[in-house]
Amino acid sequence: MAEIVHPLRRSVFRGVAGQCPACGKGPLFWRYLKVNGRCETCEAELSLYPADDGPAYLTILVMGHLVVAPMLFFPIVWRSNPAYSLPIILTTLALITLMVLPRIKGGWIGMMYSLGVKSTDAHLHTADAAE
Ligand SMILES: [Zn+2]
Repeated sequence: MAEIVHPLRRSVFRGVAGQCPACGKGPLFWRYLKVNGRCETCEAELSLYPADDGPAYLTILVMGHLVVAPMLFFPIVWRSNPAYSLPIILTTLALITLMVLPRIKGGWIGMMYSLGVKSTDAHLHTADAAE
């Protein structure tokens, strides 16, 4: 069980807002999903905290459960001509996904920061130790 090194909620919310989880002032990303190596404001080493595939999986989970599944309950989705509705629906889903992904990645990095999980801790993964 990981110990909480920094306040979890504060770190996650700062990450979701795209800010440094340590100070909440510097930007977390320098491009769409590229994490700043070091915070411009507080010099926190942000590149140490891994995201890997976690944000992508969580984005799929969130989009599937909170957007796609509820959308299927609306009869207009089933009754409309797919030639018109499919491009609109898929474009909308893609845009929502692209807006959600950096927020989830920021929150994920905030959670890693809060728990003190660094990319150098990869050797502690139990799945790798079994080999
Ligand atoms: Zn900072």
